[in-house]
Formats: sequence, structure tokens, C-alpha cells
Amino acid sequence: MEKIKEVFQYNGEIIGEIENMQKEKVNEAVEIAKKGFKKWKSYTPYQRSEILKKAAELLKKNKEEIAKLLVLEVGKTYQEALAEVERATQTILLSAEETKKLSGEEVIFEGAPKVKNKKGYYTRVPIGIIGAITPFNFPVNLTMHKVAPGLGVGNALIVKPSENTSLAISKVIELFYEAGVPRETLQIVTGLGEVTGKALVENKDVRMITFTGSVQTGDTIIRTGGLKKYTMELGSNAALFVDEDQENRLKEIAKKAKIGAFALAGQVCISIQRIFVHEKLYEKFLDIFLKEVENIKLGDPRKLETEMGPVINKDAADRILDWIYQDIKKGAKLLTGGRRAKYEEVGLKREDVILENLTADLREEFNTYHPCFIVPTVLTNVKDDSNLMLKELFGPGVFVNKVKDIDEAIEKINLSPYGLQAGIYTNNLKHAFKFAEEVECGGIMINEIPTFRVDLMPYGGVKDSGIGREGPKYAMEEMSEIKLICFDLN
Ligand code: NAD
Repeated sequence: MEKIKEVFQYNGEIIGEIENMQKEKVNEAVEIAKKGFKKWKSYTPYQRSEILKKAAELLKKNKEEIAKLLVLEVGKTYQEALAEVERATQTILLSAEETKKLSGEEVIFEGAPKVKNKKGYYTRVPIGIIGAITPFNFPVNLTMHKVAPGLGVGNALIVKPSENTSLAISKVIELFYEAGVPRETLQIVTGLGEVTGKALVENKDVRMITFTGSVQTGDTIIRTGGLKKYTMELGSNAALFVDEDQENRLKEIAKKAKIGAFALAGQVCISIQRIFVHEKLYEKFLDIFLKEVENIKLGDPRKLETEMGPVINKDAADRILDWIYQDIKKGAKLLTGGRRAKYEEVGLKREDVILENLTADLREEFNTYHPCFIVPTVLTNVKDDSNLMLKELFGPGVFVNKVKDIDEAIEKINLSPYGLQAGIYTNNLKHAFKFAEEVECGGIMINEIPTFRVDLMPYGGVKDSGIGREGPKYAMEEMSEIKLICFDLN
């Protein structure tokens, strides 16, 4: 049996192992899920809802244990991990509520010419077996955004979490069994994306893939899976515009923008990556923002005072820095960061870290610099054809560019092939409406950062940011089929 090690990226300790499941094992899970689907379909919405509520209760009871594991797996801080688990219980509870409401409506057949005495309606039915493939950054809550609504509808699910972060979610799935979900109805398969994930996508009996992850993987999945249903929650490079009338609020905006850009070391799908500030306030904003960013406390994510931990692994850190250097070569100006952190900057000595577990490539620089820690980075004057303008950095880097007015801000924001969420701070109602109407995104935040999300709202992107929406009510629509029933009463 092939194993994959999960490593705490702060000090290189091994946290646990997962199996790299091969195609045969995945196909076996699908056969089991066929029985699981039949069984689960016979539960009433009331019964499913009660079981989901119980699962939420159990998760609440176990939240500290799960959060501690998430800190080690993801490298996020304890506060971030706890917030994720608390949100996950909300996601399950919301799904329990929506389970009782999912319905269709009457269809007025007689509205068509020459039709008389035909009555009917449409209803929503489960799809069958659904594969849920999830990323590393919010392993519990994002998996719950698929599992809880999927079960609510009456589907059987097979979860394939990220190979970097499969431990906490395995524990959460055990809680669903304890709550009463049959083991055949909800299963987890662990392993590499291109092995285990691919096998799940290829299986024809898996009728839907609900995926959260990068656009590249999403694209591969659709090409591999062919004819089935998909929801795709993909990447982004969220933007914020600060309008000319915001002088009194600059401090508040800078503080929020710091959190939006650097929470979870910038590895949030709606992390702020691009800030456009009206030229009248640009210098002032930058000054306040830089001070905020330079005060971010890096360190051991297990410690309460730590604000930012490492990125997911050394390869991600290499790529992030590479993209930043490329943008600097194109003319962007580096204002702070743009390098790895030294061991002492993150509360470590070189000998505290098991480097061999963090990287196979033991470069000279890793005697001084931690392979997985990047100092919070701010750039300005980033060009239109740069990585940070167009791609998703998914790391602790953000730029602040000057714009002359809202038109220029909207034009720059729409340069991105992504469109998940964007935010504007303004007192000008016309500007707020213009921004809401013209920015190409799935969600627009007025007087809020684009990183705002609560789990009940419809969440998802346009353009390369995806297909479909999550949030239990909307996910349940995606994870069900419409079935039409027509009675001829002639
Ligand atoms: P990723 O695309 O590398 O991996 C996501 C999942 O896909 C993992 O479980 C991986 O094992 C699996 N996978 C990889 N190759 C596969 C294949 N060929 N077939 C089937 N499965 C495969 O993403 P990641 O690095 O774990 O997460 C970061 C990405 O997730 C970012 O792009 C981020 O924006 C995105 N994300 C989006 C949202 C959203 O709601 N829109 C939320 C969080 C993260």
C-alpha cells in the first residue's frame, strides 16, 4: 500500500500518513456508493435533516481537536482553524434547514396552445453518486459545502480531499457516521489528484463532480470526466478599489485590507491580491497600509499571537517568489517583503526544523531561510501584463496601484480572466452602482473587502473563476436534477 506523508510545514514534523488509493480501490468505493445511494434515498427529508443537525452538534463538540489538527495540516493559525470549524458547523446546520425546503413548483401546461386538462409539477431529485474533490486551504468547511447539501438532497458522496490535508476531514466524516449517515452513503478516498482524483472523475457511475480548486485542475477534470454534471469553484485574484472620498476611513480600510490580503498567508480564494486607490489618496493609503503589513507577526501557527504561518509547501513558496521576481523585472516596484523569512524571524533555529521533510532540494539558502515562509509582500506600479494583475498568486503578496478614477479601476479589475468577488469603498452611490454593474464578478462588496463571505450566501465566480454556486440552498439546486411530472386528466 503506497503512503503519502503529511508534514507540519513549520518545523518539518510528520503529522500522519494517508493512503494513495489506486483506481481499483476508487472503483470499489463507487460500487459501495451504489448501495449507499439506494439506502439514503429512502430516508425522508426530515430524517436526513435530523442526522445533519446531529453531525453539526458532534462537530461543535469536537471543534478544538479538529482545529488543532487543521493548524498542523494547513499551517493556518489556531484562530483561523477554529473559525473554519465553527463555520463548518453553520454550513451543516444551514444544509439541515434547506433539506426540508428543497422543492419544485407547479407547471402550467395549459399555458401552451391547444393543451387542456393537463396538470403537473416539477420536483427536485438526487443525482446519485457525487464525487467531491476539495483543496488544501479550507479542508473542513469547503468539504462541508459539498457533503452537507449533497446528503441533504439524498445523494451518496465520495470525498477526495487534498493530499496535503486529508486528516482533519477524515475525522469529520467519522462524526457523520456517528450521527447516523450510513458508511456506504458517505465515503472518503485519499491520495494524489492525478491518481485517486482522476479515477473518481473517470468513473462513469459518478454522475457529478463538485470541485473546488485551481482553474488548471478544474479544466483537466472536465476534459477527463466528459459527460457528467459539474460545479467548479475555482481561483481568483480579488480586487479592491478605494475611491477618492474615503480619506476618513483609510485606517479602517487598510486594517481590513491587510487581513484580506494576508489571512492564511494569502491562500484564500478571495484573498485581496490587487488594490487600486484613487490618486488623491494613494500616498496616504500606502503609507498606512505598509505600516500595517510590516507589523504582521509571523511564526508558529500554534501560538495565539501568530498572525501568519507558512505557505502550504516549499514548491508553492518557490512559485510565489518566482512570479513576484518576474513582475519586478517587468517594472513593478517592491515596497516590502519579496523574500523568504529567516528562521529567527519565525521563532525557530535552523536545527529545530527537519528540513528533509520539507524539501528534497536542500539548497544553501535553506541554512538561513525557512523554505516555506514568505515575508508579507507589497508591490506597486504592477503592469497590466504581469502575473499579479492576471494570475492567482495564492500567497502573501498584494499590490497597491494608483488609478485616476473609477473608470480606470473597473477597466483594470476586468483585465483579470478571473471573476470571483470584488470590493469598493465609496460614499458615492452612483459609483457603487456602476461598480456593481460593470465589474465582472460573481459577488460585489460595497464598503467591504472582497474577502467577505458568510456560508449562506450564493458564492461562486464568473469567467475562469468557475461554474455554479455554493451556499447550501444553491449547492442543493446544483446537486439535484429537475424531474417533471405531467398528468393527462382528459
Ligand atoms: P488544486 O487544484 O491543486 O487541487 C484541488 C484538488 O484537486 C485536490 O484534492 C487535488 O488532489 C485534486 N486534483 C489534482 N489533480 C487532479 C486531477 N487530475 N483529477 C482529479 N483531481 C485532481 O488546488 P489546491 O492547491 O489544493 O487549492 C488551491 C486552489 O483552490 C486555488 O486556485 C484556490 O483559488 C482554489 N479555491 C477556490 C475556492 C472557491 O470557492 N472558489 C475556495 C478555495 C480554494
